[in-house]
Amino acid sequence: MSELPRSADELPRTTDVLIVGAGPVGLTLAASLEARGVEVVLLDKAAEVAHTSRAAVIHARTLEVLGAIDVSDELVRRGVIVPRFTVRDRDRALLTIDFDGLPTRHPYTLMLPQNITEDVLTGRLDQLGGRVHRPFELARLEQDGDGVTATMVGDETVRALYVVGADGMHSAVRDQTAIGFAGDAYGQSFVLADVRLDWEFDEREVMLYFAPAGLVVVAPLPGDRHRIVATVDVAPEHPDRDHIQALIDARGPQKRPARVNDVVWSSRFRVHHRLADRYREGRIFLAGDAAHVHSPAGGQGMNTGIQDAVALGAGLANVLRDGAGERILDAYEAERRPVAADVVAFTHRMTRVATVNRPRVRRIRNATLRVLNRIPAVRRKMALNLPELAIDRRR
Ligand SMILES: Cc1cc2nc3c(=O)[nH]c(=O)nc-3n(C[C@H](O)[C@H](O)[C@H](O)COP(=O)(O)OP(=O)(O)OC[C@H]3O[C@@H](n4cnc5c(N)ncnc54)[C@H](O)[C@@H]3O)c2cc1C
Repeated sequence: MSELPRSADELPRTTDVLIVGAGPVGLTLAASLEARGVEVVLLDKAAEVAHTSRAAVIHARTLEVLGAIDVSDELVRRGVIVPRFTVRDRDRALLTIDFDGLPTRHPYTLMLPQNITEDVLTGRLDQLGGRVHRPFELARLEQDGDGVTATMVGDETVRALYVVGADGMHSAVRDQTAIGFAGDAYGQSFVLADVRLDWEFDEREVMLYFAPAGLVVVAPLPGDRHRIVATVDVAPEHPDRDHIQALIDARGPQKRPARVNDVVWSSRFRVHHRLADRYREGRIFLAGDAAHVHSPAGGQGMNTGIQDAVALGAGLANVLRDGAGERILDAYEAERRPVAADVVAFTHRMTRVATVNRPRVRRIRNATLRVLNRIPAVRRKMALNLPELAIDRRR
């Protein structure tokens, strides 16, 4: 049992698992542990939840694993089901990846803004009796043979058996363990925007336009919106309607041009490709962006993180509730780090292939994609790999 705080607004002084960071990964982990009856403290330095759209793709494998905490049906209810991705060069389709017919309960990609995903996860955590403690910023970690003492910026402390850093790319937990985060930043930035669009194409499709000037992705979102993602050399802080329109005009369809009516939300971000050297240092673990970051091409960042959380939650619950030996926790890194390494490599390759600009190389790329498009086995392999469905099936 945890020692009770002096008032409801204070942090508990002891717990079994302390989770630093209440993004999608921390929320999923906290709900997974609460569902298994493990005592958890989840904290975040932000005074309130983020309300912005950010990651908008939820892949099939993520919906499968989220079934463990009973949120998949609610996510599907609130999102847009998209059973197909196409790769295009202006008006020409080069490659079609169909998720229809895949061996899963969810043979599609779900489009849903990240703030709604977090809202659903927070609601489930609340039902399970958990909550987010705010604003508490982790400053220091000290571990010994029996546990970890976490000290906050305001000097509050929490003593935990295990600590998980789900505190994003600039993870303080990772810094405290001195685990390396090797990789680099991409030269380009990404422009993201949720827009209202006149769009004459199938709403059940995510379209990736490969253009010499860069990639532009158009994907449907709930509420008659579309998500636009584009690579650019220099992105404005808040990309406006004219900026987005110019990107689509230069890279998207020509015969049936799109018109951007208004921008609901927009942002830019500089992307890194980095992978933590290790996921565990004694009693301290890393998950989500704290452990891996990469290009959003393919929309796998949040997905890989949520899958980390479910795997780590199962391992910690096995040890803390079912009396399994500590050593099974080593399986977490063994299972999840290779997945992140594959995602980092795949999205890196995809970003480079998408942004080829020498005309001859581009012609060869397009011809190759069209040939691959005629080979059902290749299309099926891609359809399994993109939503990370191949992970379990290759074990
Ligand atoms: C503008 C933007 C657009 C994005 N677009 C996409 C996209 O299109 N597709 C995609 O796949 N991904 C996208 N991402 C990335 C995606 O949002 C992340 O992969 C995802 O949020 C990772 O979840 P996480 O829980 O690991 O970390 P985060 O969501 O980063 O959450 C970390 C949490 O930890 C808290 N925290 C940090 N440090 C501390 C501390 N010291 N003490 C306490 N709390 C702390 C933070 O306040 C935060 O709430 C985008 C990110 C941004 C910023």
